[in-house]
Amino acid sequence: MQEAMINRAKQLLADGAVNRVIGWKRGEFAYDITPAVFETAEELEKEFVYDDFTAANVSKYLVKESKKEGKILAFLKPCDTYSFNQLTKEHRVVRENVYIVGIPGGPKLDAEKIKAKGITGILGVKNENYTLKIDTVYGEEIMPFYEAILDKCATCKSKKHVVYDELMGEEGDVLDSNRFDMVEKLENMTAQERFDFWRDQLSKCIRCNACRNVCPACTCEKCVFDNPNSGVENKAPADSFEENMFHIIRAFHVAGRCTDCGECSRVCPQNIPLHLLNRKFIKDINSLYGEYQAGEDTTSRAPLNDYKQDDCEASIVHERGVE
Ligand code: SF4
Ligand code: SF4
Ligand code: SF4
Repeated sequence: MQEAMINRAKQLLADGAVNRVIGWKRGEFAYDITPAVFETAEELEKEFVYDDFTAANVSKYLVKESKKEGKILAFLKPCDTYSFNQLTKEHRVVRENVYIVGIPGGPKLDAEKIKAKGITGILGVKNENYTLKIDTVYGEEIMPFYEAILDKCATCKSKKHVVYDELMGEEGDVLDSNRFDMVEKLENMTAQERFDFWRDQLSKCIRCNACRNVCPACTCEKCVFDNPNSGVENKAPADSFEENMFHIIRAFHVAGRCTDCGECSRVCPQNIPLHLLNRKFIKDINSLYGEYQAGEDTTSRAPLNDYKQDDCEASIVHERGVE
């Protein structure tokens, strides 16, 4: 796939159909694949990477890139296309300045899951018939592919691209995902157990802002958390109130717009399962207002922006008997 993508990108650059390409290049480590913009065939040949670790969603980068001169080619996985559509709906990207090539997605790998097996000093990873052969400074290690996949891929909602100009590879389907299973487990806990679960998780937060910065729904020109008068601007939380506040405010700000892309959890250096908080909102919106998938299209009105006379009242939370 990587070779075909490089060739197609070179062709589109040579034809003048685009003047830049957003894709990925290798970072410091083999598993550290990071978004990058390429302007020439030479740059593509030298640095463009698409492999099992290429998980980053480039949609958010298009907020800035699509406003520059010329047209940019973006390779989008199925999950990324939901983010792009949502950004189009919110007028955050200039659709006509982006040429989208839909590419097959994962499952993608999570280096943290490999390291959790005690495998360190990773130099490179090969997937041979769904067995990972991991080259390390200490010799070769082996583990099953499916034990190392990202959580967001294990609960993938769709292999279907919801927007593209052309497709590479086979189109997939919307999946009958198990993504709400863990949310249901949390719902079945007592209020105290649930509180303890989230305190345990959120107390690990170091307020690095990676979750906010990567989130395609967090594209405010000026984020509330960057307000120097707020007292909480870009600083580590001082107490449990500040730890909770950042996450609760962010979850409310992206409610109804979060496409469940899973990027927030993927980048969290503290491995906090942030997507579970956002998924709870998605599940509640589905049950209170009817099934709704953010990013599925660019025209429908989101339930939280579409006020109807028969909308449930705010008191619904108490009526549902939430402890
Ligand atoms: S990425 Fe993780 S550690 Fe960083 S601010 Fe978000 S939750 Fe906290
Ligand atoms: S909150 Fe997380 S899952 Fe939702 S859109 Fe943002 S990064 Fe994606
Ligand atoms: S946390 Fe809220 S204010 Fe900040 S970028 Fe996200 S949506 Fe915007």
